[in-house]
Amino acid sequence: MRSGGGAEGDASLERGRVLFAGRCDFVAGAGDVARLPLPNLPEVAFAGRSNVGKSSLVNALTGRSALARVSQTPGRTRQLNFFELGGRLTLVDLPGYGYARASKGAILQWTALVRDYLRGRAGLVRLCLLIDARHGLRDPDRALMTILDEAAVSFQGVLTKADKAAPATLSALCERVEGELAGHAAAYPSLAVTSARTGRGIESLRGDLASLAGPAALG
Ligand code: GDP
Repeated sequence: MRSGGGAEGDASLERGRVLFAGRCDFVAGAGDVARLPLPNLPEVAFAGRSNVGKSSLVNALTGRSALARVSQTPGRTRQLNFFELGGRLTLVDLPGYGYARASKGAILQWTALVRDYLRGRAGLVRLCLLIDARHGLRDPDRALMTILDEAAVSFQGVLTKADKAAPATLSALCERVEGELAGHAAAYPSLAVTSARTGRGIESLRGDLASLAGPAALG
């Protein structure tokens, strides 16, 4: 679990606040890699099992519900959705996976799309792997981590719904998940602990992501 502080921590929170206060516009949806927008900004992707709380987390980070609404529009739920934040960072919402009743065909389609995107994407600086604080890592998450290792995409574990777990359970789960992440070459060592409901960890994650953004435009 991460804890930050001091003047450097404050500066990071401020950078995050400024970036995430900027405009956030939907720029493109891509159901196959031939339709990906040009990678003109550093890119951060969000992935997780269906119902992990991805829409809620992205809404909490950006302070807007429009983003997740776009991603949940019929026809857009199975594609990669791209949003530009403050002209400095692209946020990419990956389709959810691990849905219990997903057909084999749908799983193969998801895997092919995501693998192609992750393998060839210039500018993809980090993927946030969302993990439900009540459940920890599951096999579909492990399959994604293998793809991330192979594609050498740096990824960060982000626990969601932290408000739903008792403190002792939460710290045991963090320890377990961080132990497993440590076995992955591409994993960022510390786990972000968040709750879209209480706001826990949101400012700090904004600060982390702001450190990956491009420079602010002059004037
Ligand atoms: P997605 O399918 O991954 O986009 O998940 P959603 O954001 O739609 O959330 C799935 C369910 O979890 C919804 O019922 C949300 O209200 C709930 N949820 C999401 N984030 C939180 C959270 O931080 N705390 C709690 N208690 N519930 C949450």
